[in-house]
Amino acid sequence: MTEPVAAEVGRDFIRDIIQADLDQGRYLEIVTRFPPEPNGYLHIGHAKSIALNFGISQEFPGRCHLRFDDTNPVKEEQEYIDSIQADVRWLGFDWGKNLFFASDYFARLYEWAEQLIRDGLAYVDDQTQEEIRTSRGTLTEPGKNSPFRDRSVEENLDLFRRMKAGEFPNGARVLRAKIDMAAGNINLRDPVLYRILHAHHPRTGTEWSIYPSYDYAHGQSDAIEGITHSICTLEFEDHRPLYDWFIEKLPVPSQPHQYEFARLNLTYTLLSKRVLTQLVRDGHVAGWDDPRMPTMAGMRRRGVPPAALREFVKRIGVAKANSVVDVGMLEFCIREELNRTSQRRMGVLRPLKVVIENYPEGQTEELEAINHPDDPSAGTRKITFGRELYIEQDDFMENPPKKFFRLSPGNEVRLRYAYFVKCTGVIKNDKGEVVELRCTYDPATRGGNAPDGRKVKATMHWLPAATSVPAEIRIYNQLFSNPSPDASNFAADLNPNSLEILTEARIEASVAKSNSTEPMQFERQGYFVRDKDSTPGKPVFSRTIGLRDTFAKEVAKG
Ligand code: ATP
Ligand code: MG
Repeated sequence: MTEPVAAEVGRDFIRDIIQADLDQGRYLEIVTRFPPEPNGYLHIGHAKSIALNFGISQEFPGRCHLRFDDTNPVKEEQEYIDSIQADVRWLGFDWGKNLFFASDYFARLYEWAEQLIRDGLAYVDDQTQEEIRTSRGTLTEPGKNSPFRDRSVEENLDLFRRMKAGEFPNGARVLRAKIDMAAGNINLRDPVLYRILHAHHPRTGTEWSIYPSYDYAHGQSDAIEGITHSICTLEFEDHRPLYDWFIEKLPVPSQPHQYEFARLNLTYTLLSKRVLTQLVRDGHVAGWDDPRMPTMAGMRRRGVPPAALREFVKRIGVAKANSVVDVGMLEFCIREELNRTSQRRMGVLRPLKVVIENYPEGQTEELEAINHPDDPSAGTRKITFGRELYIEQDDFMENPPKKFFRLSPGNEVRLRYAYFVKCTGVIKNDKGEVVELRCTYDPATRGGNAPDGRKVKATMHWLPAATSVPAEIRIYNQLFSNPSPDASNFAADLNPNSLEILTEARIEASVAKSNSTEPMQFERQGYFVRDKDSTPGKPVFSRTIGLRDTFAKEVAKG
């Protein structure tokens, strides 16, 4: 369950504009929308846009619509429509009754296009896509008028109707607005309003053979829905004059305004649906919900709490200038939230067997372990101590350097919640690798304290050999090894070590038995969550995130 979202977001330039609009009585209600194109899964950049648009509807009188911008049937699928709704809900937001589709407006958009033709403001162009592109001009040179620009209204209407009727093949003709081929803003050089696409649409099937462009559909959809503030990312700033042109020329029922903010960019991450789609299609990841993906589905599977994402987008704020946010900031928010909310357990990632030689064979005892150090209401649980245990391989060194305080021959350490133990012997295999340790324990230190006041410098986690359960643990590292991966050649920047699979790990029996998908902390190791790949015989756990920011340090070391 997600908790209710508190409306405690800071101020930003968009909220300031809205407040001023309300103060001046321009609107009684603020209506925003989140307008995803259903051509992929949502990612953390979308989370920023969702939190902004839905957040505003919680802080000011009004509402936020979820509108699918489904104008390109070639790339859009029902799977994406479904996943987007699930992800917005998971993030903690609700559109109520306000679910819309641009395709619901296809008939009206078509009528308005005919009206533009009748008003001499649109024409059918027979040029190829390539001819249209090259005649558009550049930033320094004006474009050239199409030879078809001065067709009569009758001829345009006839051709446009035949485009709609499906008489022409894909790409044969387009409908263009008739604005100004010499406009300084290239978006105003007779932009394309409709193209021919013989494709199956997830909602309208084969009803339409022509589909509106984003620029034509978007603002008119906003106007139909009574959107007051149409908030989008900065790439659309130069499209705003066109947005306004349509609103001015058409008999739309309301006058929305477009505002632009900086999109989220994250280090070590690519947030382009084109790239994410390719990562999935080319098998670089195990699907849209691969825990290494920056998608909401991937993060959910990885155990990232939605509250951490909300906190993250709140902290980064909303600005008018593009920037790149350090992925460490996201990780910080995830750690903070998990530290507060997740129960503690023990897991041994790379087990090393320990035999306590002076502990009686066949004997066991129950010790009490705390479930959350800062939350007594989380209670305690029993863990079984016995003669044979597992500790972490990393917690032992046969020939330790000076500052190594964990287990080594002759050194005494505390086993968490249990006893002081001392290493008395090392057993190796043929290859000279340490495969087992012999230790003694001090029965007087039960619970982990010595009555004589003597101290140890390390406390280590452990598990009983007999009752702990084998598990597979998956450790994730950044998907890209380059802090600013190259979107046009991303395969070269993929981190070959982004997934590490530990097949010999062990976890507490109760953890293995539980089907909970709540993340938990394995003490000293990080936060982990049960993965859907678990089977009754073999639990699989994913590490959501480590306890400390070791990654930044590793990068610094090079
Ligand atoms: P892409 O360009 O990768 O295909 P998109 O931005 O076109 O993605 P849409 O489905 O059109 O994807 O996006 C829906 C909304 O989310 C848009 O309003 C868009 O501006 C916003 N959005 C997309 N990416 C980001 C981002 N990185 N940061 C903030 N908002 C974003
Ligand atoms: Mg888009």
